[in-house]
Amino acid sequence: MPARAWYSHELCFWHDPGSGAGYVPVGPGVEPLRQFAVDPDLRRAEGLVRAVGVMDHFTQVTPRPAKDDDLLLVHTSEHIERVEVASALGDGDAGVYARVNYHSAMAARLAVGACVEATSEVIAGTFDRAYCVVRPPGHHAEADRAMALCLYNNVAIAARAARRQGVGRVLVLDWDVHHGNGIQQAFYSDPDVLYVSVHQDGLFPPASGLVGEIGSGAGRGTTLNIPLPAGSGHEAYCAALRRLVEPAVRAFAPELVLVAAGVDASGHDPMGRMLCTSQTFHLMATALCELADELAGGRIVFVHEGGYSAWYQPTLVLAIACAVAGLPAPADPFLHSLAHLPGQQLQLHQRRVVEHLLTHHPLLTGT
Ligand code: ZN
Repeated sequence: MPARAWYSHELCFWHDPGSGAGYVPVGPGVEPLRQFAVDPDLRRAEGLVRAVGVMDHFTQVTPRPAKDDDLLLVHTSEHIERVEVASALGDGDAGVYARVNYHSAMAARLAVGACVEATSEVIAGTFDRAYCVVRPPGHHAEADRAMALCLYNNVAIAARAARRQGVGRVLVLDWDVHHGNGIQQAFYSDPDVLYVSVHQDGLFPPASGLVGEIGSGAGRGTTLNIPLPAGSGHEAYCAALRRLVEPAVRAFAPELVLVAAGVDASGHDPMGRMLCTSQTFHLMATALCELADELAGGRIVFVHEGGYSAWYQPTLVLAIACAVAGLPAPADPFLHSLAHLPGQQLQLHQRRVVEHLLTHHPLLTGT
């Protein structure tokens, strides 16, 4: 039995945020259009991983839906009720830009269930690594508010569940192109969970994920935001990883690594303005696995978040899967369209963000 686990569930792909232009629902001035956050696109990613034989390196696990006890680790009972009621009605918004259909409440419970179970089994040693390819995503969901396609905060709940299971220090690394405001909110004053977000500066939510947001109270220094300017590519992400993420994580010394592994920082994603390729995601995922091996007994769980390029998302998920399985980066039929853009090199204004954090963030300055 392969020691790497793949968690997914068919019902996660039945969640559908409805018709709209991009992320904007149909309404005044907005014509109906196929929503680009369509979850069957993620099923295609799983299909590619299987078709090229990489799924053979994983033990596939069908998760159980999370119980209220798990959801309540992060969310209020009123929030859970809102998601359940909106979903039971078959249509509507469970929060802010968080539309649901009849299957959404169960899909969201299965997404959380996958993350909690994967984390628990990795802690128990059943698996040494896991990849949860689930929807809906989670990192924007706050304690009492669904937001931007996110109903329950999958990764934050998994981190709390790990702490409940006795894990001392947890790293949550979030490389989704948007800022994970919900994860940050959950752990902003918690010194035992380091939240690191690499995201596009000023994208979403507005004024969230600034360099000065470093945690508060006992948690001062255990939030690290790396807001890279729009247009950042492979070398900017490498600089953030090597110069900021790796030293910060070594200073924190986590016992478990959770990765909010959205793929919407790719150069083909309609939601972001970054230039990452499959090689970027493979490199980052490999580096995080190596950090987990070095510091956390190899215990690492990847969780899918955003990803809106119907054609490129499968290759990006495959790249992460290859890294988790210890395989080289996969063939990428789209790489030629991104790899040689001049913007893939580190630009001066991007390097300034890295250098500012190197000289100001408590985890990196030791203050
Ligand atoms: Zn995103």
